[in-house]
Amino acid sequence: MEAITDIQGTFTLHNGVKMPYLGLGVYLSKDGQEVSNAVKWALDAGYRHVDTASIYANEAGVGEGIKAAEIPREDVFLVSKVWNSDQGYDTTIKAFEASLQRLDTEYLDLYLIHWPVAGKYKETWKALERLYAEKRIRAIGVSNFMQHHLQDLLDGVEVVPMVNQMEFHPYLVQQSLLDFCKAHRIQYEAWSPLMQGHIFKDPAFQDLAKKYGKTIAQVVLRWNLQKGVVTIPKSSKKERILANADLFNFELSQADMHFLDAMDQGKRFGPDPDNFDF
Ligand code: NAD
Repeated sequence: MEAITDIQGTFTLHNGVKMPYLGLGVYLSKDGQEVSNAVKWALDAGYRHVDTASIYANEAGVGEGIKAAEIPREDVFLVSKVWNSDQGYDTTIKAFEASLQRLDTEYLDLYLIHWPVAGKYKETWKALERLYAEKRIRAIGVSNFMQHHLQDLLDGVEVVPMVNQMEFHPYLVQQSLLDFCKAHRIQYEAWSPLMQGHIFKDPAFQDLAKKYGKTIAQVVLRWNLQKGVVTIPKSSKKERILANADLFNFELSQADMHFLDAMDQGKRFGPDPDNFDF
């Protein structure tokens, strides 16, 4: 595994593209000033990765935030996702163009299939492969793909997905899926790393945080990185955006890594990829 160094440190995807292992999530950040401020504060603080999606309806604000930060576009790793109702070959190409327009950019660093819509995701993947071949996207990947979805997709792809973005936190580790992705050089990425805020309710995390003189969020995000998992905590508050990146002056012991692994209870706060109807 690559060393964890600083806020701009990266993991290398199987095509050689370097993906910053810490990003800003913007789900539920409102389009306009709220999201553009969050993105600008994050980039000013040194973040170099922003995760949005067409369904978040805030791509325009994300694009404004990147411009306001006044750093070169090529220094930002920008991610969006194709929504379920846009899946299929032609509709995915159209959805991609619309995302680029809203983000006001020429290309994406990573484009993901948001959910594995049955009967659709293989055609969607072909569209992503084409956009990748045309160099409109630097890396392509999936989200919410369980092992059986990946196995089904891998059977016949030209390009193996570079990333799988999954719900991931101490209550939902899915170690066998992590191992499967690692074996196929698919970078694992955490969504809802802070359990959408529920993490702060469990006193077990408080004791661990005290031991390191850090916050619960910092300890859990550091656990993500030490497991080799890219993480994208969401906040639209400046202090929290800064605090969630203060992860590089301590290291969790192996015993504490195992302690967090052992909190796993297969519990989801988001929808189940095997049972969603949207
Ligand atoms: P999260 O686990 O990042 O938690 C966010 C919540 O925690 C917010 O309410 C925020 O105010 C609070 N919070 C953040 N930092 C805090 C801190 N330091 N102290 C106290 N509270 C804090 O949840 P999320 O937004 O669901 O997930 C992160 C990102 O993952 C999203 O923004 C989105 O980009 C992505 N995501 C992807 C999918 C998918 O299907 N691919 C699904 C959900 C989220």
